[in-house]
Amino acid sequence: MKKYDLIILGGGSAGFSAALRAVEFGAKVLIIEENVIGGTCVNRGCIPSKYLLYASEMAGTDNMKNIKGIEVKTSFNIKKIMQQKKKIIGSRYFSGHRRLSSK
Ligand SMILES: Cc1cc2nc3c(=O)[nH]c(=O)nc-3n(C[C@H](O)[C@H](O)[C@H](O)COP(=O)(O)OP(=O)(O)OC[C@H]3O[C@@H](n4cnc5c(N)ncnc54)[C@H](O)[C@@H]3O)c2cc1C
Repeated sequence: MKKYDLIILGGGSAGFSAALRAVEFGAKVLIIEENVIGGTCVNRGCIPSKYLLYASEMAGTDNMKNIKGIEVKTSFNIKKIMQQKKKIIGSRYFSGHRRLSSK
C-alpha cells in the first residue's frame, strides 16, 4: 500500500496550492478529486469567465483579430470562443499538473 505525508480532498485552487506547497517541502501528496482537477476557478469560475469577458471586450477593437472566434464582421462565433476557453483551461491544468507530478 502506498503511503503519503498528506492527503487532500478536492483538487480546486485551495487543494492544488496546498499540494504544491507541501511538495515544495518534500512531502508525498495525494489529491483525491471527485470531478475535474482545477475545481471552480479553472473549470467554471475565474479563468473561463475572464476569458469570455476579455473576448467580448476585444470585439470592435484592433486586437479582435487575435481572438479566435471573433470574425471580421464583429460577429461572435460562440462555438469557437467556447473551444478556445476549453483550450486555455486545458493548458493551465496540464502545466500545473506537470509541475506537481515532476516533484
Ligand atoms: C464565475 C466565477 C468567477 C470567479 N472569479 C474569481 C476571480 O476572478 N478571482 C478569485 O479569486 N476567485 C474567483 N472565483 C472564486 C473561486 O473560483 C473560488 O474562490 C475557488 O475556486 C475556491 O477554491 P476551492 O479549492 O476552495 O474550491 P473549489 O474550486 O470549488 O474546489 C473544490 C473541489 O473539491 C472537489 N470535491 C468536493 N467534495 C469532494 C469530495 N468529497 N471528494 C473529492 N473531491 C471533492 C470538487 O469537485 C472541486 O473540484 C470565481 C468563482 C466563480 C463561480
